[in-house]
Amino acid sequence: MKKIALVTGARKGLGYAWCQELARRGYTVLLTARRLDKARPAAEQLQGEGLDVVPYALDVTDESSIQQLAAEVEGAYGKLDVLVNNAGINSGTRAQGDKELLAKNLTLKALAPSEVLNMVNVNAIAPIIVARNFQRLLTQADDPKIIHIGSWFGSITNTQRGGNYSYAVSKSALNMMNRSLAHDLAADKITSVVVNPGWVSTDMGGARAKFTPQESVTQLIDHVMDRISLADSGKFFNYDGEIYPW
Ligand code: NDP
Repeated sequence: MKKIALVTGARKGLGYAWCQELARRGYTVLLTARRLDKARPAAEQLQGEGLDVVPYALDVTDESSIQQLAAEVEGAYGKLDVLVNNAGINSGTRAQGDKELLAKNLTLKALAPSEVLNMVNVNAIAPIIVARNFQRLLTQADDPKIIHIGSWFGSITNTQRGGNYSYAVSKSALNMMNRSLAHDLAADKITSVVVNPGWVSTDMGGARAKFTPQESVTQLIDHVMDRISLADSGKFFNYDGEIYPW
């Protein structure tokens, strides 16, 4: 039976590239976005390349939406081989040009607890809740894997300047969340890792970034996803396959 992969936040950017690359490698890919009318055109574009990509709606902060999708996936496929927890926001995508809102996420002076909590919810808690709801389906696969998209901004070791409170804290928290998750999923033989995709040219990363989404994802699959085993669960990997410092 073909391998099944599900990617969150996949209508554009890195999530879209994950869908394209996994489908090119023979997976049936479930391309999810907050709204079905946004997921559909993205999936149709990939179907136009002859790829096996199916659109679904999923807001990762809405557990009823996650449960509904898990039930649909169970009915249609009965298993899940790979879960890519890609959906995320940073201060810029959150603020959408609103300078006051941006400052509430970035600066010590304006920092707003509700903003920090919102980003932690989307970037650190939601991936774990998604994983929890797909745990049973993942156990039905031969070598199930969860790839959480983290960030170098989540590295405490490498933090050399102030500001960026919300995003950095959320991605750092994701590492801790995954460390616990990995222990909880070990009995089910589910491998769960966080990866740093590098600086990537998306709406979030901007045009000056080092990698295209395709370049980043290809490295992540070749150097991390295809090489990891259960012994690596809970680790934080760089796109080149090296361990990234916490
Ligand atoms: P984009 O802003 O292009 O894409 C982010 C995607 O996440 C969007 O499709 C967005 O949906 C989706 N999303 C946000 N909130 C939710 C939600 N509640 N439910 C479902 N989907 C949601 O950014 P990237 O592609 O660059 O980012 C992908 C991941 O990579 C993120 O986790 C990011 O933090 C991480 N990352 C990116 C880096 C970079 O340089 N680009 C560097 C390090 C990490 P919508 O379109 O509806 O807003």
